[in-house]
Amino acid sequence: MPRARAGTCRDCQALIRWVPTANTRRAIPLDFEPTDDGRVVVTDEGYAIVFGSHDEALARAQRLLTIPLTYKAHHASCPRYHSRAHAGREEYPSLF
Ligand SMILES: [Zn+2]
Repeated sequence: MPRARAGTCRDCQALIRWVPTANTRRAIPLDFEPTDDGRVVVTDEGYAIVFGSHDEALARAQRLLTIPLTYKAHHASCPRYHSRAHAGREEYPSLF
């Protein structure tokens, strides 16, 4: 993955990788480690392709890659992303 860049999530400090998407070339944050239920495939050229389901992603990974790995977008797994995104829009902070 020549174009991937390692980084750290500013919300939960998890290790992530920034990978440009095949469509827009804009980098999206993925969990650093591959996962069994990811919807994102990273091509040998180092581009991310996002699918609607894990099954689709896995099918494509199996056709495209020697080792069929899938990744999860970090905002899907980040424990703090949602609370932060939410807090910005809410008028009153949640007590929970
Ligand atoms: Zn995070």
